[in-house]
Amino acid sequence: MNVEIISVGTELLLGDILNTNAQYISKELAAIGINVYRQMTLGDNIDRLVRSFEMAFERADVVLTTGGLGPTGDDITKEAAAKYFGQDMVLDQESWTVIEDMCARYNGGKDRIPKNNIKQAMFPKNADIIPNPNGTAPGAVFKKDGKRIIVMPGPPREMKAMFKNSVLPLLMDENSDIFRSKYIRFFGIGESGLEMKLMDILNSQTNPTVALYAKEGEVLVRVTARAKDEQECMHLIDAKIEEIKAVSGKYIYLIGDDSISESQSEMEKVVAGLLHEKNKTIAVAESCTGGLVASYLVSNPGISDCFMEACVTYTNNAKMRRLGVKEETLEEFGAVSHQTAVEMAMGIASTSNADIGLSTTGIAGPEGGSDEKPVGLVYIGLYYNGKVTSIKKVFTGDRRKIRERAARTALNQVRCLLVEE
Ligand code: ATP
Ligand code: MG
Repeated sequence: MNVEIISVGTELLLGDILNTNAQYISKELAAIGINVYRQMTLGDNIDRLVRSFEMAFERADVVLTTGGLGPTGDDITKEAAAKYFGQDMVLDQESWTVIEDMCARYNGGKDRIPKNNIKQAMFPKNADIIPNPNGTAPGAVFKKDGKRIIVMPGPPREMKAMFKNSVLPLLMDENSDIFRSKYIRFFGIGESGLEMKLMDILNSQTNPTVALYAKEGEVLVRVTARAKDEQECMHLIDAKIEEIKAVSGKYIYLIGDDSISESQSEMEKVVAGLLHEKNKTIAVAESCTGGLVASYLVSNPGISDCFMEACVTYTNNAKMRRLGVKEETLEEFGAVSHQTAVEMAMGIASTSNADIGLSTTGIAGPEGGSDEKPVGLVYIGLYYNGKVTSIKKVFTGDRRKIRERAARTALNQVRCLLVEE
């Protein structure tokens, strides 16, 4: 089935509102394996809308529209659909009774309903009308010669309920298979780097499909299978995930179902889970991240079992006084160095008595960089079990991004340590 989406509304074209309807519909359709190859956005103009139906049906068999079902003259979606199919609109008495009741309540009596409301109950004779429990404008399936235009109202709340309850089941019925997805979160590799590693898998994908999404400092991969039942779907997905693991396993930090956040990093949640599971405590000494590592840790309820304390030691003096970083170290190597990161991690571990000491020191910019120590240079120190290490990274981006990436990379160091434990 080929589906296209037409979003109707001059407000969308003027940039007054964001087209979240198209985003929502596309995402829902992708999740059940229906491809949307094109979206169009049109103003409230009947001729242009009719023309857009002509264009869409050169490729698609179903066109979904949102918006333009209101009672006023500039609401023209149904009229355009009827015009495209060459159908007349007639009053649907059943819809009108519902709308009339609703409008009467709103306007204080049937005799006070604006005349133009009747427009919302007009449909071609053969249309399937879709009730709208959240508003006055019903949706409908306009059809002719195997082509269908499914019109839905513009307000997202009304559209989503109608889509989920009526339109999606209709489309799913025709696709008798079911669809399931799993999500994989990657850390420490960029989108293009991962794409290279997954090239063969991506090029040969059919079922399951594998989709890559770049997220803030991370990559999310969605694996979606289509089969006749849940078990078969999971079997296909798990086999594909094994293939993905074989080529990129060391960057994977989380695999799960759709409870995994698509928008936000799950790193702090994973680290908190591991600290609990392995029964370890942590303390943090931060310079360039200025408390962000601690804040990420504290975003997890129940972390007080594992998180001892954090210290933001911004000046050299603070690093010496609070953490026992040696003056000679700072003089010889500077505050942003392996040596300082190491002494910070040791210092916080010993003063707090935590199992793990974690530290960050770097140059978040935009000023303060040099050829030798550029903006984005960050050292992350990690103390555990008498051993201390430090890694060096150079992050790109603005001050906020550098700090966030540094903080999550620091947490990832803890994750790697605990996974091996
Ligand atoms: P109404 O009866 O409220 O006029 P309608 O079906 O005619 O509904 P529109 O007039 O096109 O819909 O849009 C109504 C409101 O719905 C808009 O002001 C906007 O807030 C929201 N809306 C419409 N289209 C979209 C869209 N594509 N994405 C997000 N919001 C939208
Ligand atoms: Mg309107």
